[in-house]
Amino acid sequence: LGNKLQDILDKLRHESKLTEAQVKAAMREIRMALLEADVNFSVAKDFVARVTEKAVGQEVMGSLNAGQMVVKIVNDELIETLGGQAKQPTLKNEGNIFFMVGLQGAGKTTSTGKLAQYYKSKGRRVLLVAADTQRPAARDQLKILGQQVGVPVLEVANGETPAETKRKLEAHLQSDYRDLIIVDTAGRLQIDEALMDQLADLKGALSPTETLLVVDAMTGQEALNVAETFESRIGLSGLIITKMDGDARGGAALSARFVTGKPIYFAGVSEKLSGLEPFYPDRVAGRILGMGDVLGLIERAQQADLQSMEIKKPGEFDLEDLLQQLRQIRKMGPLGDLMRMIPGMSRALPPEFNVDDKQVQRIDAMISSMTLKERRNPKIIDGKRRKRIATGSGTTVQDINRLLKMHEQMKDMMKMLQRMGMGGAGGKGGK
Ligand code: GDP
Ligand code: MG
Repeated sequence: LGNKLQDILDKLRHESKLTEAQVKAAMREIRMALLEADVNFSVAKDFVARVTEKAVGQEVMGSLNAGQMVVKIVNDELIETLGGQAKQPTLKNEGNIFFMVGLQGAGKTTSTGKLAQYYKSKGRRVLLVAADTQRPAARDQLKILGQQVGVPVLEVANGETPAETKRKLEAHLQSDYRDLIIVDTAGRLQIDEALMDQLADLKGALSPTETLLVVDAMTGQEALNVAETFESRIGLSGLIITKMDGDARGGAALSARFVTGKPIYFAGVSEKLSGLEPFYPDRVAGRILGMGDVLGLIERAQQADLQSMEIKKPGEFDLEDLLQQLRQIRKMGPLGDLMRMIPGMSRALPPEFNVDDKQVQRIDAMISSMTLKERRNPKIIDGKRRKRIATGSGTTVQDINRLLKMHEQMKDMMKMLQRMGMGGAGGKGGK
């Protein structure tokens, strides 16, 4: 997330209502973040307009501060635009035909092989059709994939017409029953009129049940134009985004989905046949915003209502605060899990944060055995006091030492959280 956006979100932290000027300032930065993620310019513009309308005047809810509220609204809308929930093609008992289209190099042939493996493992009887009528090498590539997966590959001949291909396919199915046929087609490096006609003809002859556009996540700005053209010339029913294992943040997915309105069924995540996953809009939304699972943290903070987790200043985070927080956090699930949702935090976390519930109870006992003065000012806890506290809580002096060390580390972490705008201090309306 850009520093500038972070600054704006920080400034919003003490507001209880989102004003138009604030939202607009934040949205300028959100738009930049989208463009950096390769979301098409016009899609970013439209998206920001929609979010602004939703955000202005909104009450800041529950335990979120205003900055988090903006992020939440943006994230929710991004997930919605990407399709909401993960979605898969609906298959009939028989007669399913997938028609794969896309530019050359997008990953059509690879994805065809991946789909064959995916559906074969689900018990489907798959047949692949190598329908590149110009390049024998392209057909060979699919034949090899078919062999690897263990499914037959029907080859189209050079210059074969769509009607001939259809007859050939029907003849094959007479002798070898198949319930899912996946047709791999030819591509071009650029949108090409002759190819579009050819694909439209073949599609017309085969009447596929799904027409899937394969989009390379690295396509960037061009994804919009590609998706728009295939949608208008061929007609699409769904999308597959490949090469999500690369550096691309996923803006191409947003653009393609936005312009076609068609579901993104799968994401390609490696060159291997196993590298196909359902497309999860929430994960990709986080990736587009460059925020990782911070959003998950916001959600959980919301669920447990962290109002009472508010702390004063980082330096003032004392053992009494720790006790109160531990009791709050226990409502939310394992502390380690929660902390590990913050990007970069999993490596920085000391092993002490693998606290299970039993340990949390022990810490509770230890702090409960301290006087309020000791909790507020841990520095006064000398050797003698440590011994007394250990006895009182049924623990050892080493346990007390570890707790005090953990508290120090936690204090540092609180400072970091606050710098990230995630700390509870100030919170809604401040205190
Ligand atoms: P086609 O021209 O559309 O059929 O594209 P191909 O299926 O031949 O793929 C082009 C290149 O992209 C090949 O080198 C593939 O191995 C690679 N590729 C396809 N999908 C993925 C993916 O999801 N991740 C990665 N890393 N590479 C991919
Ligand atoms: Mg190919």
